[in-house]
Amino acid sequence: MLELLAVPQGRNYIAGRWVDPVGDRMLTSVNPATGEVLGVAPDSSAADVDRAVRAAAEAWPSWRATPAPRRAEILFRAAELLVRHKEELARLATREMGKILTETRGDVQEAIDMTYFIAGEGRRLHGYTTPSEMPHKAAYCVRAPLGVVAVITPWNFPMAIPSWKIVPALVCGNTVVFKPASYTPLLGLKFVELFAEAGLPPGVLNVVTGPGEAVGDALVEHPQVRVVSFTGSTETGLRLAEKCGRLGKRVSLEMGGKNAAIVLPDADLGLATDALIWSAFGTTGQRCTACSRIIVHREVREALTERLVARAEALRLGDGLAPDTDVGPLVSAAQLERVHRYVEVGTGEGARLLTGGRRVTDGALARGHFYAPTIFDQVRPEMRIAQEEIFGPVTDLIEAASLEEAIAILNGVRYGLSASIFTRDVNTAMRAIDEIDTGIVYVNHGTIGAEVHLPFGGTKDTGNGHREGGLQVLDVFSEWKAVYIDYSGRLQRAQIDKD
Ligand code: NDP
Repeated sequence: MLELLAVPQGRNYIAGRWVDPVGDRMLTSVNPATGEVLGVAPDSSAADVDRAVRAAAEAWPSWRATPAPRRAEILFRAAELLVRHKEELARLATREMGKILTETRGDVQEAIDMTYFIAGEGRRLHGYTTPSEMPHKAAYCVRAPLGVVAVITPWNFPMAIPSWKIVPALVCGNTVVFKPASYTPLLGLKFVELFAEAGLPPGVLNVVTGPGEAVGDALVEHPQVRVVSFTGSTETGLRLAEKCGRLGKRVSLEMGGKNAAIVLPDADLGLATDALIWSAFGTTGQRCTACSRIIVHREVREALTERLVARAEALRLGDGLAPDTDVGPLVSAAQLERVHRYVEVGTGEGARLLTGGRRVTDGALARGHFYAPTIFDQVRPEMRIAQEEIFGPVTDLIEAASLEEAIAILNGVRYGLSASIFTRDVNTAMRAIDEIDTGIVYVNHGTIGAEVHLPFGGTKDTGNGHREGGLQVLDVFSEWKAVYIDYSGRLQRAQIDKD
């Protein structure tokens, strides 16, 4: 069992207290690199969700009445606690979901950056004033909170993604019920514990762990939940959107990706290789922004392929806590099977496997879910491995004969999260930026590595038009109230009393 985790295990945090779930079933948290059992968390039910949502609803009137700068002071303290516990959180994250320590430190750092950035909004949350069309009449608009927000997150960024949602929801004056992914419940509990320690009043932030079908569903269906903020697979997200549509709830979705990088003949191939290896195999390919298609101009295909294969084969697999590990395990046996099935689909479709394509079980690795970094060549754009999200350490090489063809291939998928282009020609780069249909575009960088103060999200089936990160995230968690103050002392009718 994990010793460093000081939170009471096996309990949810509701109304400012650690409480036993209604039932006695537990989820077990397991290290995907070693099989070590880390601890337990409640396998909660709809009754636990109801308790948490009621607590959040009760806490809302007083939280929304708390001035935003005061709310933000608590969030600044939470950011300080994240800084203080960064290493502990990163080590727990590596143990609970597998990615290497340098990356989990980055995950916690992203939560710190987001918390400081959005806490700063407590003293802004700007609306605007504007002249009225009438004399002696003031007109302005302000952001208003919505009520109880349900936050449903995946396991691949167990610190950053909850922060993208919870912190802006709170600064805007909403209260929150958080359901972390079932592979990372301990991190979810720890995250909430730190925010509670920062001084959030009881009921403002609650956490209920448990499976998506039971806990997530009950949250979405609960009549007192006004907003659902979800990150995860497109399949689950679209199902939630249907439900929210039927129930008239606001829903913000961040879903899958099938991200691509274009490499042109004038690219710096050394830089492109570094960036693509990092984008394809960082987080073991389990990032929504992972680069799973490399669209390479035929003139540099051979040179780039040689470099990529050599580098992929040199990557060291292992426990993410070991300093010499480059790539950790996949999060679960199910995810490993899914990745391997896709590799079989790829070879079945006629793609050529250049390297990888197998589970790695050497020595201690046999205890974890390790998969060799995999590169396919001779991939055609319409193949399933070039169209569907694999969410593992697999990338495809697709040849193109021109910039136009490369952009058409890049855009020819149902997703639209992140894209990149490697070229030294500014005109080419700017044309690509114009024509690429994704929410994020990089030039001379891989597809991963977003910064918190810019909008994050994607087009097409990656999202539903909302953005996280940036100031744009505030639009998810607030609504606009237009205010008119007529101090003329007489009836003035807009649009009618014109002359
Ligand atoms: P899932 O969609 O399976 O799960 C995401 C979250 O939703 C989990 O907390 C899960 O709970 C919950 N959930 C599952 N079913 C339901 C349901 N019926 N009702 C309510 N909640 C439910 O995705 P994964 O966890 O497998 O994450 C991987 C996916 O997330 C990938 O497709 C990836 O692209 C995407 N992703 C997208 C990002 C983006 O910003 N666009 C960022 C990161 C990941 P439980 O864990 O209990 O199953």
